[in-house]
Amino acid sequence: MMDIRSYIRTIADYPKAGIQFRDITTLLKDAAAFNATIDALALHYADLALDKVVGIEARGFVIGAALASKLGLGFVPVRKPGKLPGAAISQSYALEYGEDALDIHLDAIAAGEHILLIDDLIATGGTALAAVALIRQLGGVVEHAGFVIDLPDLGGLQHLQANGVQPFALCQFEGH
Ligand code: AMP
Repeated sequence: MMDIRSYIRTIADYPKAGIQFRDITTLLKDAAAFNATIDALALHYADLALDKVVGIEARGFVIGAALASKLGLGFVPVRKPGKLPGAAISQSYALEYGEDALDIHLDAIAAGEHILLIDDLIATGGTALAAVALIRQLGGVVEHAGFVIDLPDLGGLQHLQANGVQPFALCQFEGH
């Protein structure tokens, strides 16, 4: 399989000092690497009985929508506050400093639907767990979450597992 990790660019001290930003734009712009990424995720999830993919704004839209299309599933966006036009519910979550929130349309998921959650990267897992909470509030069943990148030092995968979600990531990077 293609070495997806080698297509991801690291930008030091973005968006603030001490953060190593793992930039997937260098992966997305390469047709073969983008395709290999979606194919690897699709292969991992091909045998599950899933109804929809939920992707987290913004890079989770790119990966999640391409994967949903490949798997023959619908796509649902989880967005930053105030961006969705229809009736929505909101879930706040803690950041290192302060709070943020995510929204989902009330009619995006029907009770009992099996959902695959997708984002580009998992760090602490706070963002993914907020999305899990939204999906569950709508009656969705979310047992799987997929990522291109895991930052294992931040423990996000364990947080997902502790909340009944089986995580999967295509590659890992040390540090923050
Ligand atoms: P967390 O909630 O801590 O798991 O952070 C995950 C979210 O923040 C994802 O939506 C990522 O896109 C973004 N993120 C966190 N850390 C990084 C990083 N080092 N490089 C790129 N994106 C990151």
